[in-house]
Amino acid sequence: MEKRIYNLSAGPAILPEEVLFEAQKDFISYKGSGMNVMEMSHRGKIFDAIIKDTDADLRKLLGIDDKFSILFLQGGATLQFSMVPLNLMPPKNKADYIVTGSWAEKAVKEAKRVGAVNIVATTKADNYTRIPKQSELKLDAEASYVHFTSNNTIYGTEWRSEPETGNVPLVCDASSDFLHKKLDMNKYGLIYAGAQKNIGPAGVTIVIIRKDLLERSSDSLHTYMNYKIHVDNESMYNTPTTFGIYIAGLVFKWLLNMGGLDEMYKRNVEKANVLYDAIDNSDGYYKGTTVKEDRSLMNVTYRLPNEQLEEKFIKEASAKNFSGLKGHRSVGGIRASIYNAFPRKGVEELVQFMTDFKRNN
Ligand SMILES: *Cc1c(COP(=O)(O)O)cnc(C)c1O
Repeated sequence: MEKRIYNLSAGPAILPEEVLFEAQKDFISYKGSGMNVMEMSHRGKIFDAIIKDTDADLRKLLGIDDKFSILFLQGGATLQFSMVPLNLMPPKNKADYIVTGSWAEKAVKEAKRVGAVNIVATTKADNYTRIPKQSELKLDAEASYVHFTSNNTIYGTEWRSEPETGNVPLVCDASSDFLHKKLDMNKYGLIYAGAQKNIGPAGVTIVIIRKDLLERSSDSLHTYMNYKIHVDNESMYNTPTTFGIYIAGLVFKWLLNMGGLDEMYKRNVEKANVLYDAIDNSDGYYKGTTVKEDRSLMNVTYRLPNEQLEEKFIKEASAKNFSGLKGHRSVGGIRASIYNAFPRKGVEELVQFMTDFKRNN
């Protein structure tokens, strides 16, 4: 077998090896069809079965009932920054946004083009090193929805539990922690996630929307921007990203085979603890960048005593097969993204490398 690296990149990110092998097995001829999934009609029987299976498996994983529709769209989470307000803000044309990082800022930027945005809390003054407390949220009971980012990919913070919004629908950008644990779907109006961090290849965007909210989508919207059109056409209004949906479906089966999201979450907690313990027990050599209670299980951010050492760390790590450790260009430092597919063994070896590096430097 070709040598594989320990891929700690924030996204596009690591996929389960089992999924890659499964796709490889069917690469030339998907289940005897004589074609790769990429080569077949999205309206044919074979792909129809793939997308229906993928929808059903996602419902099983998260416990999604038929009050919700699942869409497989394109345009990334970035297009959802626009689609959410275009569809859900009317008729009141005002929405609440909780700002915990750069992605939330970008969501706000697009929402402002549609209507009034009320920033109900922001932790920008703390350099986004924490998640606001419920008591800090200045929620408007008349808002069309409340938008939050469940995991802040760049800053390494994550909500332990959802903000409470009463009867106002909760909208979540879950791009970097989708399916890392089970959710209580009753709390949500809409969840969206680009696939390339924790689900599959770049190109697919998953949107889960409570069906009653579809009434808000106006016929005057541009067709692709309208959730109702996509629901009515079962994600086939236009050609969907067929290969991406297929791979996401294999990832869902991988999660189901492992025992589902409770088992995944247990593994994620254990894995993240191995790394955070190493940081906390380094006598201050490695310093976590966020407050402890808001630490992300997916993106572990930390610093070394100075930038020269950080550069050396990344370089030597790379020679040892650990790739993608450089923090986001806007914040620097180290970021180890340990999504669902990243193996515990890789985290343990990274910790060993960190111990050695500290001793030698
Ligand atoms: C990566 C990311 C995005 C942007 O995703 P695109 O697919 O590039 O549009 C948005 N939100 C969060 C939380 C992300 O991590």
